[in-house]
Amino acid sequence: VSESRSSLAVVLHWRSYGESDKIATLLTQDYGKLTGIAKGAKRSRRRFANSLEPLARVRVHFRQRPHATLAFLESCQLLQVVNEFADPLKFAYGSYLVELVDQLTVEEHPVRELYALLEEALTVIASGPISSAFLRAYELQLLGRTGYEPQLAACHRCAVPLAQLPASFVDTSHGTFWCEACRSHTASVVPLSPALLERLCELRNLPLAAGRSQSLGPLAAEAAQLTGRLLNLHLTRPLRSLRLIHQLVGSAN
Ligand SMILES: [Zn+2]
Repeated sequence: VSESRSSLAVVLHWRSYGESDKIATLLTQDYGKLTGIAKGAKRSRRRFANSLEPLARVRVHFRQRPHATLAFLESCQLLQVVNEFADPLKFAYGSYLVELVDQLTVEEHPVRELYALLEEALTVIASGPISSAFLRAYELQLLGRTGYEPQLAACHRCAVPLAQLPASFVDTSHGTFWCEACRSHTASVVPLSPALLERLCELRNLPLAAGRSQSLGPLAAEAAQLTGRLLNLHLTRPLRSLRLIHQLVGSAN
């Protein structure tokens, strides 16, 4: 018999199971990523009132047997009252944050700082405009906390600090960083401007709320392409939210 547990959590996604149940995946603060069955969730207004929607910040109560693949979700309370993601573009960006967390994590490996990062990022998106500096900072910090931190401070082979060099390089097929002397001459190795390298190093430690008011200026496109490539090395399937963002941004232009 398992004890009842409770944690703050963000709902990542859910799917239908049978006529009345849902299977939901959440990132919990205390127990990492969790997938559980919510019996009767399609009917129960009391135990699951609108609280299993993606991006919802909740307090979840659940039981989990050792080695069981599915937890048993007992109830879930919504913590924010209004729907902060009613705007389609905000919802799309929120889905992007959540989809990245889902793909870069496995269950039963709690990373406490990860919940804080996602919670903070959702708060930033919900409360104001979304900047490229914020998005890149989130991506780099997410990679760092999930164990995929790009080692961009020093050359992969000789360890010379890259910030001191006039030119450095990134191998986009391995996510490694190189000095001119050590780099290989293959198509996947591309130059990295000193200005971009410096910005990326700053973004790794930038509070997300501060990122909102910062601009990457002429570095924005190069930065987005690079973090996209670094993320892609660890993704197992295409991001649906990214397609949605491109549709929305494209239609607005
Ligand atoms: Zn080197």
